[in-house]
Amino acid sequence: MIKKRINLLRKKFRTNKIDGYIVPKNDEFFGEYSSHDRLKIISNFDGSAGFAIILKKKNYLFVDGRYTIQAKKQSGKNFKIVEIHKLLPYKIINNLKLGFDPNLFTERQLKIYFKNTSTLVPLSKNLIDQINNSACVVDPSEAEPIIDYIEKNKINLKFILNTHHHFDHIGGNQDLKKKYKSKVIGFEKDKDRIPGIDVCLNDRQIWKSENFEAKIYHIPGHTLGHVCYHFFKQNILFTGDTLFSLGCGRIFEGTYNQMFSSLQLIKSFPLKTKIYCGHEYTLKNSEFCINHDKKNSALIKKIELIKKSINVGLPSIPSTIKEELECNIFLRANDVESFSKLRDLKDKF
Ligand SMILES: [Zn+2]
Repeated sequence: MIKKRINLLRKKFRTNKIDGYIVPKNDEFFGEYSSHDRLKIISNFDGSAGFAIILKKKNYLFVDGRYTIQAKKQSGKNFKIVEIHKLLPYKIINNLKLGFDPNLFTERQLKIYFKNTSTLVPLSKNLIDQINNSACVVDPSEAEPIIDYIEKNKINLKFILNTHHHFDHIGGNQDLKKKYKSKVIGFEKDKDRIPGIDVCLNDRQIWKSENFEAKIYHIPGHTLGHVCYHFFKQNILFTGDTLFSLGCGRIFEGTYNQMFSSLQLIKSFPLKTKIYCGHEYTLKNSEFCINHDKKNSALIKKIELIKKSINVGLPSIPSTIKEELECNIFLRANDVESFSKLRDLKDKF
């Protein structure tokens, strides 16, 4: 296993022409490169700002000052230990091309540490199993961009997951299925509207195949057969057109009550859950939110970040449950009446 992972990392370096790879403490590569198991518990990116850069020659481990001595003792030979608050990566690592997994970091997070001195390269999108070299795609509206990505990265597209039947979410199903023999996964009660469906799932069922594992939840409102997929091990939720960042979907087939309870269900997911929604409507949605929630300081801050991301060509997605609870006016509505009022206003916005 260890050899397989190290070889995989070498392959990543070669195929992406990168000089190094950034890993948080819970990354599989980190474990292989650190000499001692306990090293895994001394730092983490979110809490004490710890992460490592694995380079071809010298590996760096950036840790919170409280853990410097411990880290040196435990892995001084495998990593050059750097106290993050004293010396930020951009002061040491310059002009390098560094890969990272966007399922583990967002480019926004990393930009804080690297400024613009190194090029950051996201190495995987959505759900790619790096061990088996296989992937899932969620809601492919068209096949071509997916094919480009699959071919360039030489991975196998094993599964296509659909949140609902609208054409801009299933448009790529048939072509991708034909080309890669992928299996299409969708909601049992919507099987007649999901083209090429192979695996039908019910509400609250856990789908597991290879290393992929997700729980499906029925969340009607936008359509009657809308579902979301919770990849609970990675804390990722694909919400389709039900929850958007700073917004929610239009109610086409369901009722206000259904949409409201679907959103209540989404609200109950862990705060750190990353939200991947069906459309990049965030900036436009933010205008509506701020109109109705002018003094919300978390929202004001989020809007600044969204603008920054979009200005440098980055998506505003993923968001998190925590951010949405703080900023999304549709999630902040406490009863179905005020929610319905907002939904009507948004339809005319
Ligand atoms: Zn839709």
